[in-house]
Amino acid sequence: MGIKAKGKPGAPPDDAALSAVEIKGRVMMIGTAEEVIARVDASLAAAPEVPDDFDLDDAGVVEGDVANNPIFVEKLERRIRSVTRGPDLLKDNLVELHPPREGKHCLVLDIDYTIFDLGTPGEHAGEKIRPHLHEFLESAYEHYDIVIWSATGMKWVEGKMRQLGVLDHERYKVACLMDCLSMVTVTMDQYGTFNCKPLQVLWAHYRGFYGEENTIMFDDLRRNFVFNPQQGLRIKAFRKSRTQGAGDDELLRLRDYLALIAPKASFADLDHRRWERYVRKRADRLPAPPAYAWRE
Ligand code: MG
Repeated sequence: MGIKAKGKPGAPPDDAALSAVEIKGRVMMIGTAEEVIARVDASLAAAPEVPDDFDLDDAGVVEGDVANNPIFVEKLERRIRSVTRGPDLLKDNLVELHPPREGKHCLVLDIDYTIFDLGTPGEHAGEKIRPHLHEFLESAYEHYDIVIWSATGMKWVEGKMRQLGVLDHERYKVACLMDCLSMVTVTMDQYGTFNCKPLQVLWAHYRGFYGEENTIMFDDLRRNFVFNPQQGLRIKAFRKSRTQGAGDDELLRLRDYLALIAPKASFADLDHRRWERYVRKRADRLPAPPAYAWRE
């Protein structure tokens, strides 16, 4: 770079002070000053999360691939034993907010990119909410108990949901919150090692209420369903809340799907990958003509 030590021949050592070197021309400094780093927003809206795009392709998970592997079954059983179901945010990792209701289905919702856009750091959580969320949850609550399950820690799960106004809504209730401590790590030849959300953990703690017949799970990552691909519905990821967010109507469409399948005693014969087709074919059963256009 042509920087010389003042009054000495040759290049200065790496730790030489700027005052001890001769600089000809301009130098641009790149980096972040210590004082600036110390002021970085550590608030809830800037929760530490790693946006992660890795996912399985549509054919990536076959029913039973993971659930029949004895190594993962053993891991899952250990996980089920380690999870405690209770009302204590600090102590329990399956935090029960409202008791399960007899005869209801179970809807499990991911947070990031499913009902919330991580968006720009520093924005308030309310600016990143997926459009129509409350309307969607209110409608779902009629036939489904609502479970929120995020791959982060419980304090972020609770904090985000509180900021979005999901935990104290007048017209729906959330049954329970789950976090990363209910997840299991698996390895697949094709995809490597990753964490997933086995519904078996939830079912073990709500025996007699929720099971494979009456549970549906929305997540923007298909890999989270590897233990239970039949129950998973991959939702279109919600991103760019500021630029494209206002027109997002995914939750209105899914509200209709949930309402149409609710009369079923079992979801075992449904293929959630074809949920849009299912709604379109039965649009005449909806209480009002849909305000959205069919995409297929
Ligand atoms: Mg997500």
